[in-house]
Amino acid sequence: MVRELIVKGNTKMGKDGKVWAFNLPAIITCTPTKWCLAKKGKEQNCYALKGNYKFPKVQKSYRERLELSKKDDFVERMIHEIDKRNPTYFRFHSSGDFYSEEYVKKVIEIAENSPDVLFRTTTRRRDLTKIIQELNSLPNFIVRESLDTERTTPKMNLPFAALSQLDIVSKSNSYECKNDCPKCGYYCWGNSVDMHFIEH
Ligand code: SF4
Repeated sequence: MVRELIVKGNTKMGKDGKVWAFNLPAIITCTPTKWCLAKKGKEQNCYALKGNYKFPKVQKSYRERLELSKKDDFVERMIHEIDKRNPTYFRFHSSGDFYSEEYVKKVIEIAENSPDVLFRTTTRRRDLTKIIQELNSLPNFIVRESLDTERTTPKMNLPFAALSQLDIVSKSNSYECKNDCPKCGYYCWGNSVDMHFIEH
């Protein structure tokens, strides 16, 4: 079983300890679209289904974290670990998504008890819109709705995170992700803007 729930941010987010993250398994926690599952070359489009994310050890740790997130002491453990690591920024779900209303409520409690940390995540869980809007209304939490070639327009009344080729991107003032958070100045953690990604 994993010893710690949270992990240091990945290369894109910066490895200097400013960013920490909590991840869950993809597919079983999100509502994947055809775009997520479609293959480009040998790998699937969703970045949580390729590269290092596919390693059995990594997948096992995500499954364990999913089970730990269902336990009564999850909120307390997360608050304790976040306090110990003292991140400036926190990413929920580089892999995975909200899987239940109860889990979103736990995330709300974690963010409320870590008021000096800026949290962000993306979601495809339209079935949990109401409670996710509540999470997004916290002053230190930004949730964006993921858009792709199957879901091209937002439905959750949240800022969006979209593929760059979508019409909605050219019609909006969407911010282009630089794929390097330290260089970008962690812009999307502090600004509740729509954003878009160039596919790599
Ligand atoms: S917009 Fe900037 S801070 Fe946000 S994910 Fe992209 S590079 Fe990182």
